Amino acid sequence: MTKTLLLLPGDGIGPEVTAESRRVVERLNAAAGLGVEVEEALFGGAAIDATGDPIEAATIARAKAVDAVLMGAVGGPKWANQPFDTRPEAGLLKLRAAMQVFANLRPALCFPALADASTLKREHVEGLNILFVRELTGGVYFGEPRGIEDLGGGERRGVNTQVYTSTEIRRVARVAFELAKGRSGKVCSAEKSNVMESGLLWKQEVQKLRDAEYPHVELSHMLADNAAMQLVKAPKQFDIILTDNLFGDILSDEAAMLTGSLGMLPSAAIGEAGKPGLYEPIHGSAPDIAGQGAANPCASILSLAMGLRYSLGRPDLADRVEAAVSAALDAGVRTRDLGGTATTRDMGEAILAQLA
Ligand code: NAD
Repeated sequence: MTKTLLLLPGDGIGPEVTAESRRVVERLNAAAGLGVEVEEALFGGAAIDATGDPIEAATIARAKAVDAVLMGAVGGPKWANQPFDTRPEAGLLKLRAAMQVFANLRPALCFPALADASTLKREHVEGLNILFVRELTGGVYFGEPRGIEDLGGGERRGVNTQVYTSTEIRRVARVAFELAKGRSGKVCSAEKSNVMESGLLWKQEVQKLRDAEYPHVELSHMLADNAAMQLVKAPKQFDIILTDNLFGDILSDEAAMLTGSLGMLPSAAIGEAGKPGLYEPIHGSAPDIAGQGAANPCASILSLAMGLRYSLGRPDLADRVEAAVSAALDAGVRTRDLGGTATTRDMGEAILAQLA
């Protein structure tokens, strides 16, 4: 074994979908010489129940020491009324910050077999392949001051701060420009430079870096509200969209729905080269279907594929896993979210069958 993958199954459907990803790793170990050892640890609500803490210090230390981390999902109604800082989701923010994974890669990719599952017409989504590069450890989700203050007389004030430094902007822009080399070479940067100083700084720093180091990248700038509109009007105009934490959260969810189901969408969070990446489906713990064996494992398995590509040094196997998912869909295997009756295990088996 040469590399280590830490699995954090989490809550709800998290353990159900990560179990299928684990089987894919085992298959690739046996059939393709992958050589990845899998470790597992408690995370989120499951960790709160066992230890009182959504993520233990020892788990964070392991996450920083392994080659890649594959997470399921965290949260659920059982823990929804806990104070913010001891909720399952707080464990996720803590993990991302500790691993310094500042660039969130979210592909919005339309599998040919699912082109009719989109709310947009087939001609707008067929062949769609957008990659969001979203800043993940800065901006308004982390900026200080923040909080809710009591002003007296029944009046309260909620504060969050949108803040970026040039270093934070440049390091995530660099990730987008590097990735552009292996794609069409086009990057669109989205911000609100017309009304926000942090947006103006974003635009200026992205442009400066492109001019100094990436003259071959075709960089455009778009206001984030226009980008939201363009994504439903003509999504195929985009290749890479580079944006901040808040706009990236919203725009990538919007684009995600163009491609069919939440159950199909993977993501990666990466930091400095050589440091472990954090891979997770975009979806949450889906308490409404947890325990039914009905969850779609594709998002988890495609997240594993991103891990193979960006952290485990096997882009060839990443391609094979993505092709296996596509072939399983072509063969008509559909979980409930895709309008079918296949179970989580059926879908996993159909994908494994392609990897024999
Ligand atoms: P969700 O993504 O869990 O579910 C939204 C809808 O999509 C549900 O109807 C669900 O059944 C369906 N769905 C999601 N993933 C699916 C899959 N793989 N297969 C089939 N159907 C799927 O979002 P939510 O309901 O808003 O949140 C539920 C919990 O998850 C909350 O506690 C929330 O905080 C948490 N959450 C966690 C993460 C994360 O761990 N990164 C992300 C989002 C939400």
